[in-house]
Amino acid sequence: MSGSIRAVIDTNALQHNLSVVRARAGSARVMAVVKANAYGHGLLPTALALQAADAFGVARLEEGVALRAGGITQPIVLLEGVFGAEQLEEAARQRLQLVVHDVSQIELLECSGGAQRFVLWVKIDTGMNRLGFPPGESAAVLERLRRLSPAPSELRLLTHLSCANERDDAVTRAQVQRFRDATRSLPYAVSIANSAGLFGAVALGCDWVRPGIALYGASPFDDCIAADLGLEPVMRLESSVIAVRRVARGERVGYGGAWVAKRDSAIAVIAAGYGDGLHRSLGGGAPVLIDGRRAPLAGRVSMDMMAVDVSELAGVRVGTPVLLWGPGLAVEEVARNAGTIPYELLCAVSQRVRLVVNRA
Ligand SMILES: *Cc1c(COP(=O)(O)O)cnc(C)c1O
Repeated sequence: MSGSIRAVIDTNALQHNLSVVRARAGSARVMAVVKANAYGHGLLPTALALQAADAFGVARLEEGVALRAGGITQPIVLLEGVFGAEQLEEAARQRLQLVVHDVSQIELLECSGGAQRFVLWVKIDTGMNRLGFPPGESAAVLERLRRLSPAPSELRLLTHLSCANERDDAVTRAQVQRFRDATRSLPYAVSIANSAGLFGAVALGCDWVRPGIALYGASPFDDCIAADLGLEPVMRLESSVIAVRRVARGERVGYGGAWVAKRDSAIAVIAAGYGDGLHRSLGGGAPVLIDGRRAPLAGRVSMDMMAVDVSELAGVRVGTPVLLWGPGLAVEEVARNAGTIPYELLCAVSQRVRLVVNRA
């Protein structure tokens, strides 16, 4: 459809990325992280395409409920656990596994009298200082959970890396060491790696990995793009030209007249703006692909459209296809131009962007 923006999701690429992750993970099992609407890729279609994963990770109870309603039968882990008796009951009904990171969640379980319904993942804080128990408390926490009556069906342990994305291997090594020290003598499965941990240089040695961004074909690192890791971009964010106009040298384009024509120019207006999730911080000069050819943004992104200098390109007209990111224009490059990371751009793709799932 001309004049409308869409996100085309390549399920083959999702499956390819899962196989790359698996090869990287060795014998570890893979929990595919599909929180935040699968990083903007559509929660259910993504999970359906990734049914070969060993489990799914979500951030919110509603996401777990939606996966079950959509027919997903794999284990689903609530990465932040539950916050109240009602949520706990719903999680039990939906057969969700729970992360336990705070004493209030232990108290909830103690009051519920039904811990046998849950696989519990105890989160150890090894330096992120966000969620989790200090390593020194882990033994006492586990003891308290073991004493739940009836006992939980299984206990597992996880931690989260704070600096793997920055490739700060000294910090990652220290976190892994702290986690090992706290869990070494325990008979439980352990989980460490996000995508950066998985593709980073530090050996993790764990039973479960938890990749998110890598599955979507974007790099967790600033210094490389997904292709360098053998991954394929999953989302193609595409739109089209809705107007082409000539502007004379010295004329200005867009809000604030931020872009000034240095010569007589051709400007293409694209149906894509911050109302779709394109960041307004995308600088003038940031490229888009017009019919496969690079052209720079002219001026500011507005809510519904953006202007592109197509003076160098022949044959641009209303309806000409435009790629905002995807194969040929890495979301990592777009993120850098917007002063952010691919995670934020992908998650920001808004409700009005039509998701089109390309099934194999
Ligand atoms: C989001 C999240 C992940 C996935 O991180 P990526 O960097 O996208 O691979 C893994 N574990 C936890 C606990 C998370 O919250």
